[in-house]
Amino acid sequence: MQFENDIYEVAIIGGGISGTALLYSLSNYTNINRIALIEKQPEVALGNSHRTSNSQTLHFGDIETNYTLEKAQKVKGAASLVKNYLLRNDPQQKIFSKYHKMVLGIGKEQTEELRERYKDFKSLFPGLKLIEKEEIELVEPNVVKNRTPEEEIIALSTEEGYTIDFQKLAQSFLGKSVANTEKTIDLMMETKVKSIRKEGEFYQIQTDRDVVVAKVVVFTAAAYSLLFAKSLGYGKDYALLNVAGNFYLAPGVLNGKVYTVQLKKIPFAAIHGDAEVHNQSKTRFGPTAKVTFLLESRNYATFVDYFRTAGLSINAFLSFFNILSEKVILEYIVRNFIYDIPFFGRRLFLRQVQKIVPSMQLGDLQLAKGYLGIRPQIVNLKTKRLELGEAKIVGENILFNITPSPGASTCLQNAEYDTEKILEFLGQDYTFDKNRFLQDLGDEQALAQIT
Ligand SMILES: Cc1cc2nc3c(=O)[nH]c(=O)nc-3n(C[C@H](O)[C@H](O)[C@H](O)COP(=O)(O)OP(=O)(O)OC[C@H]3O[C@@H](n4cnc5c(N)ncnc54)[C@H](O)[C@@H]3O)c2cc1C
Repeated sequence: MQFENDIYEVAIIGGGISGTALLYSLSNYTNINRIALIEKQPEVALGNSHRTSNSQTLHFGDIETNYTLEKAQKVKGAASLVKNYLLRNDPQQKIFSKYHKMVLGIGKEQTEELRERYKDFKSLFPGLKLIEKEEIELVEPNVVKNRTPEEEIIALSTEEGYTIDFQKLAQSFLGKSVANTEKTIDLMMETKVKSIRKEGEFYQIQTDRDVVVAKVVVFTAAAYSLLFAKSLGYGKDYALLNVAGNFYLAPGVLNGKVYTVQLKKIPFAAIHGDAEVHNQSKTRFGPTAKVTFLLESRNYATFVDYFRTAGLSINAFLSFFNILSEKVILEYIVRNFIYDIPFFGRRLFLRQVQKIVPSMQLGDLQLAKGYLGIRPQIVNLKTKRLELGEAKIVGENILFNITPSPGASTCLQNAEYDTEKILEFLGQDYTFDKNRFLQDLGDEQALAQIT
């Protein structure tokens, strides 16, 4: 027999930026009293949310040339929640640094593309400026140095560049969650979820320590969310194309973030250079994008699980074949594979870096050791195509979040959505103080919508 006191109202599985943002929302803005956060690592955010696993960018959609206006609108709203959290809770800027950022157009085709984009995007992003070579040189001299006078370059630039240590942000969310001592918030660290099943109205979560029982479960376990979804019969139309991202480090040659124009049909950020979050004397270039058959970076034990997420069906095979038969994607994958190969990789990557900083020398570029994250890109088995951005699977009293980029930028909006959904699951005795959530985190526009 199960005693009410043993049952959690909500169990969150995975303590990265997504899981901790949700815990922050549930513990501070709802009347839910018993919450468990289950994380297999000894600390939060040691996976893709760690400083060395991602590009540290708060994506607004202003300089990401693969975002449509509609997508940029959504991402801007989501990123603003994170920005406002930081501005209100981190006045000493221990979690983030504010640098300018720009996307660079090189040559006739790209400069024209950016001029057109500026016309469409400037009303959504009033701080965005179209700047010519002379102005670029003032803020980023090394971007212009060694270019021929004939080479055409322009940039879309803004001062709204936030570089974030997402692990520290996750720690901050956690700190603000456990500060609420009136509730039972159990942090189960070094506890790995092995399997899950539904028994009656509760979920029985088998961990390597104990069984955890919960009314509602949310998976924020990155690529593993899909595997657990499949174990319960959900997410059959999805597989994953996992793309590992590494970086090269150089001495500080840039003052802010410099992105390049996105390759068409490629759903992840083009190579860019930026200062490390709290160290402008180091510039990081990347990320590379190497297809991998692992679910977690450097964790070779996850190889078998990767194939279990795809399901090894004919449909999955046809989807991968369809995606890889696109010449642009195949070439991109092969090129990125070479970037990680000693000797050749650095030389090939240098050519990409020189598009941003033409004076960069081979000796100044080193593969970043110990860095690496994995973007679980969603393959839609129905359309047989790669999807851009995150996926959420909604089941019976259960949610599964799969979070490639820009999953860290959208963490609070995702938490807001999940909080509302969890309340729907739990029933009418439960409340979410959304007004206070938006007063604390929203900007004027978001507030105007509710008042
Ligand atoms: C190269 C690269 C660059 C990126 N750049 C950006 C960027 O600039 N801006 C941006 O917004 N996003 C970026 N992203 C995406 C961003 O890093 C992710 O969307 C985000 O970190 C996902 O957070 P998460 O909490 O969902 O997953 P994670 O941080 O991976 O957390 C998942 C957690 O689940 C735990 N877990 C897994 N299985 C179990 C289990 N069985 N039991 C218990 N715990 C489990 C893991 O240990 C882990 O802590 C980038 C990603 C990569 C790889």
